[in-house]
Amino acid sequence: MSEKIIGQVVRVAGPLVVAEGLAGAKVFEVVRVGQQKLVGEIIELCDDKASIQVYEDTQSITPGESVEATGQTMSVELAPGLLESIYDGIQRPLQLIEKESGSAFIARGIDVPGVSRTKRWDFQSVAQVGESVAPGDVLGVVQETSLIEHKVMVPPGVSGILKKIESSKKTVVETIAEIQTDEGLRKIQMLQHWPIRDARPVSESLVPNEPLISGGRSIDTFFPIAKGGSGCIPGPFGAGKTVTQQGLAKFCDAQVIVYIGCGERGNEMTEVLTEFPHLEDPNTGEPLMRRTIMIANTSNMPVAAREASIYTGITIAEYYRDMGYSVALMADSTSRWAEAMREISGRLEEMPGEEGYPAYLGSRTAGFYERAGSVKCLGSDGRRGTLTVIGAVSPPGGDLSEPVTQNTLRVTKTFWGLDASLAYKRHFPAINWLSSYSLYTENIREWWAKNVAPDFEEVRETAMSLLQEEAKLEEIVKLVGAESLSPREKLVLLVARMIREDFLFQNAFDREDAFTPMKKQHGILKAIVKIYSAGLQIIDNAEFDFKNLQELPVLQEVSKAKDIPVEEIERFEKLGKKVESEILKLKIA
Ligand code: ADP
Repeated sequence: MSEKIIGQVVRVAGPLVVAEGLAGAKVFEVVRVGQQKLVGEIIELCDDKASIQVYEDTQSITPGESVEATGQTMSVELAPGLLESIYDGIQRPLQLIEKESGSAFIARGIDVPGVSRTKRWDFQSVAQVGESVAPGDVLGVVQETSLIEHKVMVPPGVSGILKKIESSKKTVVETIAEIQTDEGLRKIQMLQHWPIRDARPVSESLVPNEPLISGGRSIDTFFPIAKGGSGCIPGPFGAGKTVTQQGLAKFCDAQVIVYIGCGERGNEMTEVLTEFPHLEDPNTGEPLMRRTIMIANTSNMPVAAREASIYTGITIAEYYRDMGYSVALMADSTSRWAEAMREISGRLEEMPGEEGYPAYLGSRTAGFYERAGSVKCLGSDGRRGTLTVIGAVSPPGGDLSEPVTQNTLRVTKTFWGLDASLAYKRHFPAINWLSSYSLYTENIREWWAKNVAPDFEEVRETAMSLLQEEAKLEEIVKLVGAESLSPREKLVLLVARMIREDFLFQNAFDREDAFTPMKKQHGILKAIVKIYSAGLQIIDNAEFDFKNLQELPVLQEVSKAKDIPVEEIERFEKLGKKVESEILKLKIA
């Protein structure tokens, strides 16, 4: 065995420690700092002098203390037992630590593995002895929770002939299979490691062409995100970022959820931590945690751990994607991550870029979101997996021109712009329908036509053009008053208001309203849009009185269409017909 590389601390600056005597160590290598053996990572190396970001409180570290290189890069543990866990930024299980130490505050230098070494899992082999196996091939399965079957895969970089495998109850560190490789016999355990800063390999990138259904009407109908896509939710404080992210985590149709929380204030994350374990999976009624992994950064945790948490989370998410699952990752808020990067860069005395953020803010942001994707996974069965990444951004003062928002917008393809003025008016979700966009609509148009309704796109486009026209007309009304509007313009305002109030407005805290299936979204919107198309047929009549249309009782029925259960979907079609006939009757009258 090679000799251990041990250096010495020369300077401590907050989360950054500078040490000498580390020649032979590598950038991104994990080191143990000081007597307490705090976990750190080398982020810069010049001859034997290393800059180390330390993932724990460095207060007690003094120059002269030792720094020990471990020879390993910053990695996560991947194995059954990840689901239901709540981790800190470097994958230390908070629940377990809390149980052991009686406090959610992690004692420094504590060494608790990310997944249990003692728990036995019922490993069921699916591969046969004598088979030739390659990276990604499924060796066997473990029922990790009641909701998710964990696939134990051949790790990247290993291929050969399967010499031994058997179904048995095993811990994650016991051997479950042996593969004869060109380099010799390789023993395989369920536990694998992967460096957090490297994307896990895939067989092929595919075009994301299915939507991630959230049950949110504004999102699903107007600004959809594809499974495997990336999205961004910028918004000022109180505009609804957290409510939106949590709604997505709870209701979206991804199979596995990874939620990374970077609290603005300490207690905010505590709320999430206490609430989440009690949430129910709306589809199965089981605890949502059975298909969720949480990474929690409270504001009292060191900034370096916050910087790493994004990578820890996305690596775990990729691992489940590799099993062929659809995975959704929410990061709330990535601004806190960028601030951690800024602080560390400042300590390194790097040349600051815009607003003090490091020049590499853009490339790091892109590197993170580019790990989203719809892919053909490694493995001979050709399975497909998706990883959708949604990041919240909290621009100071809601100013979207600041660097974190701008760099995020450059790489994400869905933009849900949360608007303070809408939130102030209590219009929720406060997603601004004029500024938000989705670049996935082209790709998922076919899916809509096949799975929702052939005219889905037509209905949504008509509705959107009415909302856009409403904005222009409101300007005119402000200048010259509503009297100057033509009957058609009045009709536009009437229908657009209904789209806003009866379709876009959605209460995340109302059990029934929080989730609307796609067919029902289409049903409601089509009934509203019908008022416009039928109205157009009568407004040219010289005797037409707009008030008669406005006061038609069937409009009230359309406003309540939200209450029609999806099981009675045919009622929407009937409602549309009724709208048309009631309105056309006005022409005859
Ligand atoms: P942010 O994370 O942007 O600071 P929050 O997500 O905490 O904002 O939202 C602030 C408040 O706005 C919530 O406590 C809630 O009262 C209200 N709110 C946000 N979104 C919704 C929604 N979809 N439905 C109902 N209320 C909402």
